[in-house]
Amino acid sequence: MLTSSELISLVKEYNPDANAELIRKAYIFAMEAHGTQRRASDAPYFYHPLEVARSLAELKFDVSTVVTGLLHDVLEDASVNLEELEEIFGAEIAFLVDGVTKLSKISYVPRRINQAENFQKFLLAISCDIRVLIIKLMDRLSNMRTLNYIQSIEKKEKISLETLEIYAPLAERMGMSIVKDEIEDIAFYNLHPDEYSAISRKLDKIRNKGVNFIANTVDELKKTFENASIDANISGREKKAYSIWKKMQKRNLPLEQINDIIAFRVIVESVQQCYQALGVIHTHFPIVPGRFKDYISVPKINNYKSLHTSVIGSFQQPMEIQIRTAEMHRAAEEGIAAHWFYKSGDIFPGKSKSANYAWTKNLTAILQNAGSPEDIMTHSKLEMFENEVFCFTPRGDLVILPYGATAVDFAYGIHTTVGNTCAGAKINDKIAPLCTVLHNGDQVDIITSPYHHPEAIWESFAISGKAKSNIKKFIKVHEKAEFITLGSRLITYLFSLANIHFTEDSISLDRFSCVTFDEFYYKFGKGIIPLDRVRDLFLKSEDWITICENHLLLTDLLPGIAVHYAECCNPILKDKVIGIFAPPKGLVVHTTSCNRIEKSGSTMVRVKWSDNRDDTDNSFVARLCIGTLNEANSFATITNIISSTGAHIINLKMEHRSVEFFDLLVDIKVRDAIHLDELQSNLRIGTNIRSVRRL
Ligand code: MN
Repeated sequence: MLTSSELISLVKEYNPDANAELIRKAYIFAMEAHGTQRRASDAPYFYHPLEVARSLAELKFDVSTVVTGLLHDVLEDASVNLEELEEIFGAEIAFLVDGVTKLSKISYVPRRINQAENFQKFLLAISCDIRVLIIKLMDRLSNMRTLNYIQSIEKKEKISLETLEIYAPLAERMGMSIVKDEIEDIAFYNLHPDEYSAISRKLDKIRNKGVNFIANTVDELKKTFENASIDANISGREKKAYSIWKKMQKRNLPLEQINDIIAFRVIVESVQQCYQALGVIHTHFPIVPGRFKDYISVPKINNYKSLHTSVIGSFQQPMEIQIRTAEMHRAAEEGIAAHWFYKSGDIFPGKSKSANYAWTKNLTAILQNAGSPEDIMTHSKLEMFENEVFCFTPRGDLVILPYGATAVDFAYGIHTTVGNTCAGAKINDKIAPLCTVLHNGDQVDIITSPYHHPEAIWESFAISGKAKSNIKKFIKVHEKAEFITLGSRLITYLFSLANIHFTEDSISLDRFSCVTFDEFYYKFGKGIIPLDRVRDLFLKSEDWITICENHLLLTDLLPGIAVHYAECCNPILKDKVIGIFAPPKGLVVHTTSCNRIEKSGSTMVRVKWSDNRDDTDNSFVARLCIGTLNEANSFATITNIISSTGAHIINLKMEHRSVEFFDLLVDIKVRDAIHLDELQSNLRIGTNIRSVRRL
């Protein structure tokens, strides 16, 4: 086991000013925190964070990152809390450990095409800091190395799939090819053992055919370069089984026809020498046409640079040769980690082909704008997806929304129909208002109902273009129809007050400068044709509300367009209600007991709920004030009674809390007044409950 002094001297090699005491403290802290815990391999648990810290030190990371490597599992697996960590190790390390812990809690559920890529973006977004992601990659590397100790095949496959689809591509994107190759190969072995061993067997065969093919070719290349007076470092290696398999799949070829199973690497001093070396190789060996690639003038998206060519070797074996400088080599192997401490002017050129990839562009900016190592730390915040928020459906599908999006945006993000019928939302299993702003990683379950429709107020908190335009469209389409219905019911009602049965022969459209009755009803409902003008034609009495028993029926009038339920008294279905005609808004419905109703009767309209609305939907919001004893179980009693009655709690607030009592304000969704009455009586007999009042 690596001792704390050994770890410290590893860090001191590249960072002589490193805070040795901090590393020692973290070493002891992590060792004690994990105590007697063991890994699946039966090794002490502490070996794992220590290995992660060592990998980070080998990549020459800053002290905070190495220390986080040691501490990365103490929140999750040992009984340490974040406050404690911050107190001992400071805010930066606590932030990093917390970041890694959050990443570990998210598990990837492969669903459909593009999910993997979205998920990678999501991880980048919630990592907040590049270092969090790098620590997580080293954690994954350590876990993959001990994967064979895990008993459950299902678990092994799940981890392997996640590695192959998420972590290996992330390592690749960051240019860390050594990590990528290793975790990818272990994952491949676990997911496709048959293919893995078939490729391994064939590799053995090829290996045994040639008389030490690799060593002989390396010698031959060395001599060739010596003759050409080029100083080159040459090595040969077999490609990993997974990358061979991927090539076979991609090009649909058998193993024998893959050219680059064995790859040689030529490392020279300068870019100029790279091209000279290429000339030497092409003169000495017959080339395989069409296989030359110049990644020096056109680097890969992750800024990989090299010259690649394929030639036929002296053993009649096709082979790939990669030519690069030492600097390009380190960048290729370690990726962004290689540049951590360097000003990276030419490593991540801003105008490279990667410019259209938001994430590389931002990585580029981070590394380019940073001067000293300290600067790099302050700029290591991942800002690439700060304009987006990543949320999940209950099935695990990702929905990407603009930053600041609410549950309504999420509903429209799934489908227009879901948005147009959304009745409520559960965010992380809790009922939440549709205006709730979503955060990265929220799981959102949209409750839909055929009785629901977009409300004008949604427009004020929807922020996505899709939601906004659909809400507008819905309101616009329905506005005309709703005001026509209201206008026509209002005129019928008005006539009935004078004991006249209204028919379309009753009035002359010319008098109101209208061409059609729909136009007349609309203008009347909107108040463009004043109510007084029509009423005065037929009614003498000012106090017309008291004349007869007729009503205006509320059936099928969508709330929020021509009819509004007053926010002062929140009337619900089957409440005793009265309407106030308030053009151009339409008709505002209050409970008869609401003290906000103006007593002047000129605009009052007797209204009635429909008789036959039989949906079992909780669509009306009521507010209750529940007075209760301040006992441990009071809260649970109340919520249990409410949910057992089939009502939904939307909001809770505690008020007037004292040693003995408190008041609970609850907003609940109920079917109608009868449902609410039933709920109130159930609450009144509940233990500890002293009073129940509707507000
Ligand atoms: Mn770990």
